[in-house]
Amino acid sequence: MHVQKEKKDLIVPVQMDIDSTFTFACEKEMACYTKCCKDAHIILTPCDIIRMKKRLGLSSDEFLQIYTTLGYIDKTELPIPVMKMLEDEEKTCPFLDESGCGIYEDRPLTCRYYPLSAGMFHNKDLHSDKHFFALVKESHCLGHDLGRELIIKEWRKDQGIIPYDEANFGWQELILKRKSLGPFFTIPEKTLQMFFMGCYNVDRFRRFVSDSQFLNVYIVSEERKKKILEDDLAMLDFAIDWLKTTLLGDDKLKIREQVSETDPVEVEA
Ligand code: SF4
Ligand code: SF4
Repeated sequence: MHVQKEKKDLIVPVQMDIDSTFTFACEKEMACYTKCCKDAHIILTPCDIIRMKKRLGLSSDEFLQIYTTLGYIDKTELPIPVMKMLEDEEKTCPFLDESGCGIYEDRPLTCRYYPLSAGMFHNKDLHSDKHFFALVKESHCLGHDLGRELIIKEWRKDQGIIPYDEANFGWQELILKRKSLGPFFTIPEKTLQMFFMGCYNVDRFRRFVSDSQFLNVYIVSEERKKKILEDDLAMLDFAIDWLKTTLLGDDKLKIREQVSETDPVEVEA
């Protein structure tokens, strides 16, 4: 999410749903063009990292190291990568170039939603498919109340948001489940490292799966094995199943019968 730089920027958001409308225009000719790409607080979802590292020809390790810093998901101890702005006076996004966003086709979800903020974490009920949104008004953004009326449902389609939300669904479920356990539940450091690797560092997780006893411990079909070794989104899906099994006790991955419970899969984060 782009976080407001000063409190006075924020007009208290009204909760909206998928059929709500807002009036907004964003054009290159506007005086505020690219101001939203400076000093922004942009969290990165698992799907963002997969798309961006691929676009940049980097491994997920390299991407995380170069372009992110560590943040925490609201009201939890769960880690989340946050995009590192440049250290110039305006704290410019590293992907901003003379013509605009240099990674436009692979820009993160937060940038796609803007000027909306999606209630991914605390407003989306696990037992309902309802989404909630807020309109974020920042003083530098001149696009509000210009142009035509937009329906959120259509905005999500136009901005290519739906595949991201689909790919991130299991991750959102994990977060919601953690939140439902309340503030007095604590997660050990090693488990948080597992969460970080599984959700955000797909290449390291792939190495972990290939180089450890993982595939001897869990029952994984040959078809799935092949897919996860080639496809990052399939690997993410697999990582989420593993996290749901180990962290939440869900029955997503089954352990082979002959493997003794004293042969745990060791995590090296
Ligand atoms: S990723 Fe692109 S759209 Fe998002 S802040 Fe950076 S330059 Fe702007
Ligand atoms: S109208 Fe808003 S979103 Fe568009 S360029 Fe200006 S500040 Fe950014």
